[in-house]
Amino acid sequence: MESFPPMSADFPAGPALSDAEAAFLQVPEAERCRAHLKYLTSLPHVAGTPGDYETAEYVLNQFKSFGLDAVIQNETVLLTAPVEAASAKLYSADGTTLVYAAALSEDLLDPTADTPYRNHSFLGYSPTGSAAGPLVYVNYGSTEDFEYLVAQGVNLTGAIAIARYGSIFRGLKALNAQTHGMAGLIIYSDPSDDGYAQGQLYPNGPWRPESGIQRGSVVFNSLCGGDPGRGVDKCGIPLEDLIPSIPVLPMGYGDAVQFLSHIVGAPAPASWQGALPFQYNIGPGAFARIATNNTQYTTDIWNVVAYINGTDPVEGEDYVILGNHRDAWVYGAVDPNSGTAALLEIARAYGVLLQGGWQPKRGLVLTSWDGEEYGLLGSTAFGERFADDLILHAVAYLNIDTAVMGPQLWVTLVPSLLTHFRQTAALVKDPVTGNPLSVEWDGSYDIMGSGSDYTVFLDALGVASGDLLFGGAYGVYHSVFDSFNWMETQGDPTFQYHEACAQIFGLVGLRLADARILPFNYTEYAYAISTFYLPQVQQLATDAKLPVDFTALTNAAQQFASGASKIMSRVEQAYNNPNYNVVDLNSRLFLAERQFTDPNGIINRKWFKHTVFAPDRENGYDASSFPGIVDMIRTGNATLAQQAITSAATALSNVGTFLSY
Ligand SMILES: [Zn+2]
Repeated sequence: MESFPPMSADFPAGPALSDAEAAFLQVPEAERCRAHLKYLTSLPHVAGTPGDYETAEYVLNQFKSFGLDAVIQNETVLLTAPVEAASAKLYSADGTTLVYAAALSEDLLDPTADTPYRNHSFLGYSPTGSAAGPLVYVNYGSTEDFEYLVAQGVNLTGAIAIARYGSIFRGLKALNAQTHGMAGLIIYSDPSDDGYAQGQLYPNGPWRPESGIQRGSVVFNSLCGGDPGRGVDKCGIPLEDLIPSIPVLPMGYGDAVQFLSHIVGAPAPASWQGALPFQYNIGPGAFARIATNNTQYTTDIWNVVAYINGTDPVEGEDYVILGNHRDAWVYGAVDPNSGTAALLEIARAYGVLLQGGWQPKRGLVLTSWDGEEYGLLGSTAFGERFADDLILHAVAYLNIDTAVMGPQLWVTLVPSLLTHFRQTAALVKDPVTGNPLSVEWDGSYDIMGSGSDYTVFLDALGVASGDLLFGGAYGVYHSVFDSFNWMETQGDPTFQYHEACAQIFGLVGLRLADARILPFNYTEYAYAISTFYLPQVQQLATDAKLPVDFTALTNAAQQFASGASKIMSRVEQAYNNPNYNVVDLNSRLFLAERQFTDPNGIINRKWFKHTVFAPDRENGYDASSFPGIVDMIRTGNATLAQQAITSAATALSNVGTFLSY
């Protein structure tokens, strides 16, 4: 993931803490975060299962006990679940002699992780099927990896791919494998990525033990967000083109070592070598049979939503959303329920303020999403259901998925929110060093791709979004070992970082709700576009030797920059003049993000409307800036690339005009 520096190491101090803010910071408690996490991780709660419903009721009852109006909102979606365990068997090259049958089961290493789910090694939206063929190692299974294999003349048709996790979203590995005529796919966790090459293995350390399996969804997430089965009118792409047609299964490296060590053929390039103790070969060589037996079914999932009404006669209709998903692949202590624990402490703190007479200027909406793990199902359903209202009134969408895996603050956001996050970080202390978080965090940030619930808000609706977490050494992602015991022995034994997360994230929301002048900074946005995003996409076109003309976009970027400096000078006037009418100013400050969208969407993936940010089509996790242009440069079609430039230029120029009033 590429990270960008802020415009300046310094940033202007924000307003001093208000009484409500100072009171807010006193409320979150580490011990209460611990208790929430303990409950939430006491049972597996995969989306749509009874355990998931229990956690929904828990969150609902907690919200209500804090004095908030809260409801469960059902959404009907398409899910998959294993009917019986998948199998993967290795044979001699002629396919006659069984060499090894994979266990596909996670060991009992943890007293808080004893559940039949440790045998649920499956991937969401993998079809039921079986495949047999020679085994080919495809590295990460990325576009470039397959280009290399094709260039080497490796016969992929009818073969079984074995890909390591990492680099790109797992669903896109499946898409690439099936596009190249492969019959099935094994995705395994290489110890180079999150196992022993990184450090001590769980339970002695934070990294993935050999039986640890990374579950996950294999939906083609960069083509559309949300339930892939909800109908072609939403995505413009039918279900069968959004999920794999070949069986796909996940594997730990305790099993994968057998499969990989038996592959013969040409040695894999140096950059393809993992940390298992032998030379990785490409194959084809050994012979494999894999089978999956999954059921595809329609069911309800449960978003839990709490509302705090705004009280300003005009701006009270606007609201700030704070969201976290609740569903997990098994227990989800880190991903996502560290975030749920923090969100519940934020809800309690807001409740305490309300009881003390606090009247927030704008509304606050707290959301516990369901079905995120399958493909952002709950948040996307909410975003589409309430699109009209969100477009008019959502000031910002703030996301915490994983909240705590360690001590380092990591921030992902649209640049207009960067100053606000830094100013807020200056008001919250790192629990270990005692420094303000703005000292621990240098202000660098990632841009928003996909992989969490902000996607519908930013990419489809144009709502300014931000996400934060405390990062660290974390090797048990989507395994049974992402458990309460992992958190208590590795990630955050004192739960102080949970408390700090509730403080900073809750304060980011509270400030946006109460601000007299919304703390958006468009100068930072304009700087990022002209300094990073625009030169990058121009370089990509140059490298591709594609004859396209960027004049319209460079002009539009200047228009945007000039609009940005105009509105920021109005912001300054308003700060200095208590009688300044801020209503129009505020609405422009938050509605400007909408103007980045093109109603027609990005070419060939029209669900994505934002012209500056979307998940990279070939990566799925990382963001592309100017994604429509990047997509069309990669196809080599200059006419369509020019069309995408026009679309982005129109949007940027619209934002510039909108900010210049
Ligand atoms: Zn998550």
